[in-house]
Amino acid sequence: MVMESTIELLLRQGINELKNNSVENSVLDAQLLLCHILNCDRLYLITYADKKIDTQIVVEYKQVIKQRIKGMPVQYIIGKQEFMSLPFYVTKDVLIPRADTEILVEYVIEKYKQEAYDNQLTAIDIGTGSGCIAVSLAYYLNCITVWGVDISSDALAVAQKNATKNNVQQKIRFVKQDILQPKANQMLPTNVDIVVSNPPYIPARTIKTLQTEVKTYEPYHALDGGSDGLLFYPILIKRAIKQLKPAGLLALEVGHDQSILVKDIIEQSGAYHNVTVHKDLAGIGRVVTAEKG
Ligand code: GLN
Repeated sequence: MVMESTIELLLRQGINELKNNSVENSVLDAQLLLCHILNCDRLYLITYADKKIDTQIVVEYKQVIKQRIKGMPVQYIIGKQEFMSLPFYVTKDVLIPRADTEILVEYVIEKYKQEAYDNQLTAIDIGTGSGCIAVSLAYYLNCITVWGVDISSDALAVAQKNATKNNVQQKIRFVKQDILQPKANQMLPTNVDIVVSNPPYIPARTIKTLQTEVKTYEPYHALDGGSDGLLFYPILIKRAIKQLKPAGLLALEVGHDQSILVKDIIEQSGAYHNVTVHKDLAGIGRVVTAEKG
Protein backbone atom coordinates (compact mmCIF):
# COMPACT_ATOMS: atom_id res chain seq x y z
CA MET A 1 0.00 0.00 0.00
CA VAL A 2 1.20 3.52 -0.79
CA MET A 3 1.29 5.78 2.25
CA GLU A 4 0.18 9.37 2.44
CA SER A 5 3.17 11.70 2.40
CA THR A 6 4.30 15.32 2.58
CA ILE A 7 6.09 17.34 -0.09
CA GLU A 8 9.35 17.19 1.86
CA LEU A 9 9.20 13.45 2.45
CA LEU A 10 8.25 12.64 -1.11
CA LEU A 11 10.98 14.86 -2.49
CA ARG A 12 13.58 13.24 -0.24
CA GLN A 13 12.51 9.80 -1.43
CA GLY A 14 12.69 10.93 -5.05
CA ILE A 15 16.18 12.40 -4.60
CA ASN A 16 17.41 9.22 -2.89
CA GLU A 17 16.03 6.94 -5.57
CA LEU A 18 17.63 8.98 -8.33
CA LYS A 19 20.92 9.18 -6.44
CA ASN A 20 20.95 5.43 -5.74
CA ASN A 21 20.51 4.83 -9.45
CA SER A 22 23.37 7.20 -10.38
CA VAL A 23 21.20 9.86 -11.96
CA GLU A 24 23.19 13.11 -12.16
CA ASN A 25 21.45 16.28 -10.94
CA SER A 26 19.27 14.14 -8.68
CA VAL A 27 18.08 17.09 -6.57
CA LEU A 28 17.08 19.31 -9.45
CA ASP A 29 15.48 16.46 -11.41
CA ALA A 30 13.50 15.25 -8.38
CA GLN A 31 12.26 18.81 -7.83
CA LEU A 32 11.33 19.40 -11.48
CA LEU A 33 9.44 16.12 -11.64
CA LEU A 34 7.47 16.89 -8.49
CA CYS A 35 6.69 20.40 -9.75
CA HIS A 36 5.39 18.79 -12.93
CA ILE A 37 3.04 16.46 -11.04
CA LEU A 38 1.87 19.20 -8.65
CA ASN A 39 1.79 21.83 -11.39
CA CYS A 40 3.75 24.29 -9.24
CA ASP A 41 7.13 26.04 -9.22
CA ARG A 42 10.19 25.08 -7.15
CA LEU A 43 9.62 27.79 -4.58
CA TYR A 44 6.26 26.19 -3.74
CA LEU A 45 8.06 22.94 -2.79
CA ILE A 46 10.10 24.80 -0.19
CA THR A 47 7.32 27.08 1.05
CA TYR A 48 4.84 24.24 1.49
CA ALA A 49 7.30 21.48 2.48
CA ASP A 50 4.90 20.19 5.19
CA LYS A 51 1.87 20.06 2.93
CA LYS A 52 0.16 16.65 2.84
CA ILE A 53 0.18 14.90 -0.51
CA ASP A 54 -2.51 12.37 -1.39
CA THR A 55 -1.72 8.87 -2.51
CA GLN A 56 -2.58 9.45 -6.17
CA ILE A 57 0.19 12.06 -6.41
CA VAL A 58 2.61 9.69 -4.67
CA VAL A 59 1.83 7.00 -7.26
CA GLU A 60 2.27 9.39 -10.19
CA TYR A 61 5.55 10.72 -8.76
CA LYS A 62 6.95 7.21 -8.37
CA GLN A 63 6.12 6.52 -12.01
CA VAL A 64 7.98 9.54 -13.35
CA ILE A 65 10.95 8.84 -11.07
CA LYS A 66 11.04 5.35 -12.63
CA GLN A 67 11.04 6.81 -16.15
CA ARG A 68 13.92 9.10 -15.21
CA ILE A 69 15.89 6.17 -13.76
CA LYS A 70 15.46 4.33 -17.07
CA GLY A 71 17.25 7.27 -18.72
CA MET A 72 14.41 9.35 -20.11
CA PRO A 73 15.55 13.01 -19.98
CA VAL A 74 13.58 15.09 -17.50
CA GLN A 75 12.62 17.48 -20.33
CA TYR A 76 10.75 14.74 -22.23
CA ILE A 77 8.93 13.67 -19.05
CA ILE A 78 7.78 17.18 -18.19
CA GLY A 79 7.48 18.19 -21.88
CA LYS A 80 9.37 21.45 -21.65
CA GLN A 81 12.74 23.20 -21.74
CA GLU A 82 13.72 26.84 -21.46
CA PHE A 83 15.86 28.36 -24.24
CA MET A 84 16.95 32.01 -24.51
CA SER A 85 14.73 32.59 -21.42
CA LEU A 86 11.68 31.51 -23.44
CA PRO A 87 9.47 28.47 -22.75
CA PHE A 88 9.52 25.61 -25.28
CA TYR A 89 7.47 22.44 -25.56
CA VAL A 90 9.54 19.36 -26.29
CA THR A 91 8.53 15.85 -27.30
CA LYS A 92 10.58 12.82 -28.33
CA ASP A 93 10.26 14.10 -31.93
CA VAL A 94 12.66 16.98 -31.34
CA LEU A 95 16.13 17.48 -29.97
CA ILE A 96 16.09 19.12 -26.52
CA PRO A 97 17.32 22.73 -26.99
CA ARG A 98 20.88 23.14 -25.65
CA ALA A 99 22.70 26.03 -24.02
CA ASP A 100 25.42 25.67 -26.73
CA THR A 101 22.90 26.78 -29.34
CA GLU A 102 22.27 30.01 -27.45
CA ILE A 103 25.77 31.12 -28.54
CA LEU A 104 24.60 31.03 -32.17
CA VAL A 105 21.30 32.77 -31.46
CA GLU A 106 22.87 35.46 -29.27
CA TYR A 107 25.42 36.28 -31.97
CA VAL A 108 22.75 36.67 -34.65
CA ILE A 109 20.53 38.82 -32.40
CA GLU A 110 23.43 41.04 -31.40
CA LYS A 111 24.50 41.53 -35.02
CA TYR A 112 21.03 42.34 -36.35
CA LYS A 113 19.08 43.92 -33.49
CA GLN A 114 19.69 47.49 -34.67
CA GLU A 115 19.04 46.75 -38.33
CA ALA A 116 15.84 44.90 -37.44
CA TYR A 117 14.33 48.19 -36.26
CA ASP A 118 14.80 49.89 -39.62
CA ASN A 119 14.57 47.05 -42.16
CA GLN A 120 12.48 43.96 -42.73
CA LEU A 121 14.86 40.99 -42.40
CA THR A 122 14.46 37.42 -43.62
CA ALA A 123 16.11 34.34 -42.10
CA ILE A 124 16.06 30.63 -42.86
CA ASP A 125 16.59 28.06 -40.08
CA ILE A 126 17.46 24.68 -41.59
CA GLY A 127 16.61 21.69 -39.39
CA THR A 128 14.43 23.73 -37.09
CA GLY A 129 13.46 20.82 -34.78
CA SER A 130 11.68 22.30 -31.75
CA GLY A 131 11.90 25.68 -33.49
CA CYS A 132 14.06 27.04 -30.69
CA ILE A 133 16.34 29.02 -33.04
CA ALA A 134 13.56 30.26 -35.35
CA VAL A 135 11.26 31.26 -32.47
CA SER A 136 14.03 33.05 -30.55
CA LEU A 137 15.07 35.07 -33.62
CA ALA A 138 11.44 35.98 -34.27
CA TYR A 139 10.93 36.92 -30.63
CA TYR A 140 14.04 39.04 -30.12
CA LEU A 141 14.37 40.70 -33.55
CA ASN A 142 11.82 43.36 -34.33
CA CYS A 143 11.08 43.13 -38.08
CA ILE A 144 11.94 39.64 -39.22
CA THR A 145 10.33 36.79 -41.09
CA VAL A 146 11.85 33.38 -40.34
CA TRP A 147 11.46 30.28 -42.47
CA GLY A 148 11.83 27.13 -40.38
CA VAL A 149 12.66 24.02 -42.41
CA ASP A 150 12.62 20.42 -41.25
CA ILE A 151 12.34 16.94 -42.75
CA SER A 152 10.02 15.77 -39.95
CA SER A 153 6.31 16.70 -39.87
CA ASP A 154 6.20 15.74 -36.20
CA ALA A 155 9.03 18.16 -35.41
CA LEU A 156 7.31 20.91 -37.43
CA ALA A 157 4.12 20.40 -35.40
CA VAL A 158 6.12 20.97 -32.20
CA ALA A 159 7.87 24.01 -33.72
CA GLN A 160 4.50 25.47 -34.74
CA LYS A 161 3.20 25.04 -31.19
CA ASN A 162 6.30 26.80 -29.88
CA ALA A 163 5.81 29.71 -32.27
CA THR A 164 2.23 30.09 -31.00
CA LYS A 165 3.26 29.65 -27.36
CA ASN A 166 5.71 32.54 -27.73
CA ASN A 167 3.28 34.57 -29.81
CA VAL A 168 5.50 34.85 -32.91
CA GLN A 169 3.46 32.64 -35.25
CA GLN A 170 2.86 35.62 -37.59
CA LYS A 171 6.61 36.00 -38.09
CA ILE A 172 7.43 32.37 -38.95
CA ARG A 173 6.64 30.07 -41.90
CA PHE A 174 7.33 26.39 -41.46
CA VAL A 175 8.24 24.25 -44.48
CA LYS A 176 8.66 20.49 -44.68
CA GLN A 177 11.72 19.72 -46.72
CA ASP A 178 14.65 17.30 -46.98
CA ILE A 179 17.69 19.50 -47.39
CA LEU A 180 19.66 16.59 -48.88
CA GLN A 181 17.37 16.53 -51.94
CA PRO A 182 18.84 18.49 -54.88
CA LYS A 183 15.67 20.56 -55.43
CA ALA A 184 15.09 21.23 -51.75
CA ASN A 185 15.68 24.98 -51.82
CA GLN A 186 13.04 25.75 -54.45
CA MET A 187 10.31 26.63 -51.97
CA LEU A 188 12.55 28.90 -49.93
CA PRO A 189 13.07 32.63 -50.47
CA THR A 190 16.27 33.97 -52.02
CA ASN A 191 18.11 37.17 -51.21
CA VAL A 192 17.70 36.47 -47.48
CA ASP A 193 19.74 38.17 -44.76
CA ILE A 194 20.49 35.15 -42.58
CA VAL A 195 20.82 31.38 -42.95
CA VAL A 196 21.25 29.49 -39.66
CA SER A 197 21.47 25.82 -38.84
CA ASN A 198 22.27 23.49 -35.99
CA PRO A 199 22.50 20.37 -38.15
CA PRO A 200 22.97 16.80 -36.94
CA TYR A 201 26.75 16.56 -36.43
CA ILE A 202 27.54 13.45 -34.38
CA PRO A 203 29.62 10.87 -36.31
CA ALA A 204 27.33 7.84 -36.79
CA ARG A 205 29.59 5.38 -34.95
CA THR A 206 29.92 7.74 -31.96
CA ILE A 207 26.17 7.83 -31.28
CA LYS A 208 26.17 4.48 -29.49
CA THR A 209 28.82 5.77 -27.06
CA LEU A 210 26.68 8.71 -25.93
CA GLN A 211 24.72 8.69 -22.66
CA THR A 212 21.40 6.78 -22.63
CA GLU A 213 19.46 10.03 -22.38
CA VAL A 214 20.72 11.04 -25.82
CA LYS A 215 21.23 7.79 -27.74
CA THR A 216 18.00 6.09 -26.65
CA TYR A 217 15.61 8.99 -26.28
CA GLU A 218 16.59 11.85 -28.60
CA PRO A 219 15.62 11.55 -32.31
CA TYR A 220 18.36 9.67 -34.16
CA HIS A 221 18.04 11.70 -37.34
CA ALA A 222 18.60 14.90 -35.33
CA LEU A 223 21.99 13.57 -34.19
CA ASP A 224 23.38 11.55 -37.10
CA GLY A 225 25.88 13.58 -39.11
CA GLY A 226 27.03 10.65 -41.30
CA SER A 227 30.30 8.75 -41.02
CA ASP A 228 32.47 11.74 -40.05
CA GLY A 229 29.72 13.96 -38.59
CA LEU A 230 30.28 16.53 -41.36
CA LEU A 231 27.68 15.28 -43.87
CA PHE A 232 25.44 18.35 -43.75
CA TYR A 233 28.01 21.17 -43.76
CA PRO A 234 29.06 21.20 -47.45
CA ILE A 235 25.39 21.00 -48.47
CA LEU A 236 24.33 23.81 -46.13
CA ILE A 237 27.26 25.98 -47.20
CA LYS A 238 26.40 25.50 -50.88
CA ARG A 239 22.65 25.99 -50.40
CA ALA A 240 23.17 29.15 -48.38
CA ILE A 241 25.09 30.70 -51.28
CA LYS A 242 21.88 30.44 -53.33
CA GLN A 243 19.58 31.75 -50.61
CA LEU A 244 21.66 34.61 -49.15
CA LYS A 245 21.89 38.18 -50.37
CA PRO A 246 25.39 39.66 -50.82
CA ALA A 247 26.98 40.13 -47.35
CA GLY A 248 24.24 37.90 -45.87
CA LEU A 249 25.18 35.88 -42.78
CA LEU A 250 25.68 32.13 -42.57
CA ALA A 251 25.76 30.86 -38.94
CA LEU A 252 26.34 27.17 -38.22
CA GLU A 253 26.59 25.30 -34.95
CA VAL A 254 29.35 22.66 -35.02
CA GLY A 255 30.50 19.71 -32.89
CA HIS A 256 33.14 20.34 -30.21
CA ASP A 257 36.03 19.29 -32.52
CA GLN A 258 34.66 20.45 -35.87
CA SER A 259 35.06 24.24 -35.95
CA ILE A 260 38.36 24.32 -37.86
CA LEU A 261 37.16 21.67 -40.34
CA VAL A 262 33.93 23.57 -41.01
CA LYS A 263 35.81 26.88 -41.27
CA ASP A 264 38.02 25.22 -43.93
CA ILE A 265 35.01 23.94 -45.90
CA ILE A 266 33.50 27.44 -45.91
CA GLU A 267 36.79 29.05 -46.97
CA GLN A 268 37.35 26.47 -49.72
CA SER A 269 33.96 27.27 -51.24
CA GLY A 270 35.43 30.68 -52.13
CA ALA A 271 32.00 32.28 -51.74
CA TYR A 272 32.32 33.79 -48.25
CA HIS A 273 34.52 36.16 -46.29
CA ASN A 274 34.94 36.96 -42.58
CA VAL A 275 34.84 33.27 -41.65
CA THR A 276 34.87 33.29 -37.84
CA VAL A 277 34.84 30.66 -35.09
CA HIS A 278 32.88 31.58 -31.94
CA LYS A 279 33.93 29.87 -28.71
CA ASP A 280 31.96 28.92 -25.62
CA LEU A 281 33.06 29.86 -22.07
CA ALA A 282 35.31 26.78 -21.97
CA GLY A 283 37.13 27.98 -25.09
CA ILE A 284 35.61 25.36 -27.42
CA GLY A 285 34.58 26.47 -30.93
CA ARG A 286 30.78 26.00 -31.11
CA VAL A 287 29.66 28.23 -33.94
CA VAL A 288 31.16 29.21 -37.28
CA THR A 289 29.87 32.31 -39.08
CA ALA A 290 30.66 33.79 -42.47
CA GLU A 291 29.40 36.52 -44.77
CA LYS A 292 28.58 35.87 -48.40
CA GLY A 293 30.64 37.57 -51.08
N1 GLN B 1 17.38 23.57 -34.44
C1 GLN B 1 17.07 22.65 -33.38
C2 GLN B 1 17.99 22.92 -32.21
O1 GLN B 1 18.96 23.63 -32.35
C3 GLN B 1 17.20 21.22 -33.84
C4 GLN B 1 18.58 20.82 -34.20
C5 GLN B 1 18.68 19.36 -34.64
O2 GLN B 1 17.71 18.62 -34.57
N2 GLN B 1 19.85 18.94 -35.05
O3 GLN B 1 17.77 22.42 -31.13
